Amino acid sequence: MNGFDYTSLMSVFPPSSAVSDRGRLMVGGCDTVSLVQTYGTPLYVFDEAGIRARCAEFRNEFGSRYPDVSVIYACKAFTCLAMLQLITEEGLGLDVVSGGEIEYARVAGSPLGNISFAGNNKAPWELELALNSAIRHIVVDNLPELELLAGMAGDRRADILLRLSPGIDPHTHKFNTTGTVDSKFGLPRPDWDKAVLLALGSPCVRLRGLHFHLGSGLFEVEPYLEAIGIVLEYAADIRRRYGFELEVLSIGGGYGVAYHPEDRPPSIADFAEAITSQLRRKCSDLNLSLPQLVIEPGRAIVAQYGISLYTVGVIKEIPGIRTYVSVDGGMGDNIRYPLYGFVQETLVANRAASPGTKKVTISGKYCESGDILVPEVTLPDIQSGDILAMAGSGAYAVPMASNYNGNYRPAVVFVKDGTARLVRCRETIEDLTGRDI
Ligand code: PLP
Repeated sequence: MNGFDYTSLMSVFPPSSAVSDRGRLMVGGCDTVSLVQTYGTPLYVFDEAGIRARCAEFRNEFGSRYPDVSVIYACKAFTCLAMLQLITEEGLGLDVVSGGEIEYARVAGSPLGNISFAGNNKAPWELELALNSAIRHIVVDNLPELELLAGMAGDRRADILLRLSPGIDPHTHKFNTTGTVDSKFGLPRPDWDKAVLLALGSPCVRLRGLHFHLGSGLFEVEPYLEAIGIVLEYAADIRRRYGFELEVLSIGGGYGVAYHPEDRPPSIADFAEAITSQLRRKCSDLNLSLPQLVIEPGRAIVAQYGISLYTVGVIKEIPGIRTYVSVDGGMGDNIRYPLYGFVQETLVANRAASPGTKKVTISGKYCESGDILVPEVTLPDIQSGDILAMAGSGAYAVPMASNYNGNYRPAVVFVKDGTARLVRCRETIEDLTGRDI
């Protein structure tokens, strides 16, 4: 996993990546060392053409196999105004999980009617905002939320999906698992009928369909197929008992991506083929009309198209034990290794083709011993001032960034055809103190 081989490692960097004649890592036609000279580090760099191509891949692979598909981007994976504008231009909707994300979409000019609002503990003000914003639907997660919504909607009609917890293990890290019985997300089986009856009996709520989300980073199609079977059988059951017609089925996100050269997740075409075949088969067996299929990819849209760049500072060698290579970022811009053991592939951006010679640990600059970015990697003899480039930084890194230890959250640039554009500035002292009284 962490052996150094730049040619195979390039397979997990953005597709536009290359090593220049000067031995520097290039992304989107831009020299990463020059980007660092212009924008500083830590720096997050996104390959814009790669993200656009990925949006099209989801649209086309699912859309060519099924009559009514809606692809909505789970913006928790990575959000900024430029990203939201890109998503709108690509014709995708948005999966949001907070009032803040609804407001973000509004400021970005995203069509609010294409927003799906999920989340396990929505506050009254967030539901109020959703109702006033005429979003596409609210994904109701639990009975108290449904009661609250039914009581506050008044003459504003709320289109909803019910999020069912299908009780399936998707075989990902336990922190990335959401559809099992023991999960804070979704309606447990004993609540399914209660929720359907409550929704059908509430004049201001319109139950349009059912939803599940199994987890994140799935490397198998089978959990989706199993969940589709369970949920469609339930849809057929409630049609018989209550006359409910399923219009929309959302199967959530979770599509896994390759973070390491040996990773072999199903392609988007593989996911699309298996999922749409199962949907057609089951609907035909159960004599259901084909519902609209909603998919909510987040990670798979951005993960492999973002890299992070750091400058090496102090190198501490403990003979016979370990060499710590400390960089100028860490858990404050990317908490994924401390949070769930996520390990990233790393290159030295200023001499990307040099062979690895030495095992090191890449540590951050934060006052926590657990502030590790990569526990063990073989790199060329590393010097202070070298630039490290980490693959697979596009999803769930920047959005979970913090100001811990008074550090400024990083800048973000989009690169395309040899041009870089700054889409988020590095924070400044005004950002740290601006809300203090
Ligand atoms: N939909 C819902 C309801 C989610 O909770 C999530 C992630 O947690 C997603 C979609 C996106 O998942 P992923 O980024 O793995 O595609």
